Amino acid sequence: MGFLSKLMGLGKAQPKGKGGYVQRDGKHALWIYVQCAKCGEKIPVRLRTTSELQRREGPDTEQGPGMYFVRKTVVGKKCYQRIEASVEFDFKYDVVDHKVTNGRLITCDEYNQG
Ligand SMILES: [Zn+2]
Repeated sequence: MGFLSKLMGLGKAQPKGKGGYVQRDGKHALWIYVQCAKCGEKIPVRLRTTSELQRREGPDTEQGPGMYFVRKTVVGKKCYQRIEASVEFDFKYDVVDHKVTNGRLITCDEYNQG
């Protein structure tokens, strides 16, 4: 019995991403959107999947829930607040987790509402 439950516990469950945060841009890029906590500016951020998104491999896989992740400093046009975004993606580039300092991650819909 102990053997079986151990076996079952081996596979790390893949967290499922939430849609709506990512807009694909061709094959090698995507957009995410952040909002500045200071002035409320909504800022689109283009990420190159080939160079900016990092795949979690080896010891890195334990550091976060995503298959890919990115850390990016974003500065808008209205103020000089530095927004630190760290976002985790699943294999389809849907967002599984995110942490944004001095701002927040918003969905494409929220961004398009102006
Ligand atoms: Zn701002």
